[in-house]
Amino acid sequence: MRIKVQFVGSAFDMKHFPPCVAPEIAFLGRSNVGKSSLLNSLIGTKLAHVSSTPGRTQAINFFSMAWDGKPHHADLMLVDLPGYGYAKVSKSISAEWPKFIDPYLKKRGCLALCVVVVDSNIAAQESDQKLLSYLRFVGRPACVVATKSDRISKNELNHSLQQLRQKLQTPEIFSYSAKTHAGRNELWKVIRAASHPHA
Ligand code: GDP
Repeated sequence: MRIKVQFVGSAFDMKHFPPCVAPEIAFLGRSNVGKSSLLNSLIGTKLAHVSSTPGRTQAINFFSMAWDGKPHHADLMLVDLPGYGYAKVSKSISAEWPKFIDPYLKKRGCLALCVVVVDSNIAAQESDQKLLSYLRFVGRPACVVATKSDRISKNELNHSLQQLRQKLQTPEIFSYSAKTHAGRNELWKVIRAASHPHA
């Protein structure tokens, strides 16, 4: 599969959201959970310049993606949201993030799926629970991906997935390793299904 990914822009404000041209897949996760590595592994190339540019990690970063590398065409948009979980005490997840995140998640017409990234080596965190309840409340489809699966044994991974399913009240959690790319095909299937729901 040949894919072409292009950086479209960073938004710090609703006014700077690009037009809705394709279904959007948003990636959310606590800082350091492995979100950038997951994105890089999924598309098979580095988007690292984004996270290493100061300020951009607090923005919403939009990338267009085309399956066959067709120029000036987007089959879907990958949307990297700022990491959360800095604030130890916050009443709600939305109290913690910049003001433009809330309208993106609540109102964006082309947002097809929220991929919530957690660490399979770490127990479910309150901020992840809050985020998932928030997404349910605003009616956004979400899928949970537990990454860094290569760091633990198969038994430990199964146990961890079971705990995460229970604590996050999510029947299906996808395991992933950005190191070995285990789980990549499964996650692409979910993304494709969400972006072409009637295909
Ligand atoms: P982000 O802040 O959520 O974007 O996290 P990064 O993608 O920068 O990852 C944080 C750290 O975890 C880095 O040191 C990565 O190399 C490491 N990491 C991320 N994903 C994996 C993985 O699947 N396996 C292993 N072994 N390390 C990972």
